[in-house]
Amino acid sequence: MAILMKGKDLSEKLLENIKKEVANLTVKPTIAVIIVGNNPASKVYISKKKKTAENIGMDSIIIEMPEGTIQQELETKIEELNNDKAVNGILVQLPLPKQINEYKILEKILPEKDVDGFHALNVGKLSQGIEPSAVSCTPAGIIEILKEYNIDIEGKHAVIVGRSNIVGKPVSYLLLNRHATVTICHSRTKDLESITKQADILIAAVGKAKFIKEKHIKDNAVVIDVGINRNDQGKLVGDVDFNEVEPKVSHITPVPGGVGPMTIAMLMTNTLRLYKNQREEIK
Ligand code: NDP
Repeated sequence: MAILMKGKDLSEKLLENIKKEVANLTVKPTIAVIIVGNNPASKVYISKKKKTAENIGMDSIIIEMPEGTIQQELETKIEELNNDKAVNGILVQLPLPKQINEYKILEKILPEKDVDGFHALNVGKLSQGIEPSAVSCTPAGIIEILKEYNIDIEGKHAVIVGRSNIVGKPVSYLLLNRHATVTICHSRTKDLESITKQADILIAAVGKAKFIKEKHIKDNAVVIDVGINRNDQGKLVGDVDFNEVEPKVSHITPVPGGVGPMTIAMLMTNTLRLYKNQREEIK
């Protein structure tokens, strides 16, 4: 039977440690979260972030802007937060309404306050193997899970299915920087199965329920399931067909309770890290 890599347990441990650290600080770390529009999933994510921040003693500022917000209004709001010394981390919840240029918005956030690690400077540093101010949260969480379960990365073949800017690409840099041999697959990849079957570490970030089947997997592989999908019954399911795949692998993350909780724990880790960097500058 495969070892279940319980991101939920690990995230609780990390958050507990951050809470202890924050309790000793006179000035609390503060994260500002901007949400534009009424995307219901985004609202759920935002309230989770706020609740987690509160639970560990951090301050959070939630800024809700209407669906019709234009580029300039959002940029002005970001500038305000960039200039606000009390704000350590700024996050703009994605996706944004279509009238807004997402790339330009992410560029507007000061790299030193870019708690999501999406600013091109931070992504560029990551791609060059240089430590950025913050690494995007889901990829960082994946690395923490692999560490916690003593999974060797060096020399292993890591195959990532998905090439998004928020998961696939940054996790590929993190794995490459840790000396894995990395292959990235996407919707135009031919004969996907022949590639995923070579994976010592398989990362599924496709956004399609139960997409990865037993036939995609090498015996004793380590499988990380990033996917969050709802099935017909409204239940959360991953991108991996857990029941088919689990008997064949050595380690696997469950959905829910795997990568998801780690994303939020890494967001708080990043907030504390940015806070410390900024306090260091003041000294
Ligand atoms: P995107 O939709 O941005 O990217 C999906 C990727 O999968 C694309 O690169 C796409 O290829 C690729 N893909 C789609 N179909 C196929 C196919 N048939 N064969 C091979 N590759 C395919 O998704 P995200 O990266 O944002 O998210 C992926 C999943 O992870 C989603 O379920 C999302 O909800 C979840 N997620 C979970 C998080 C967490 O905290 N656990 C955080 C972020 C995301 P192409 O580029 O060619 O279109």
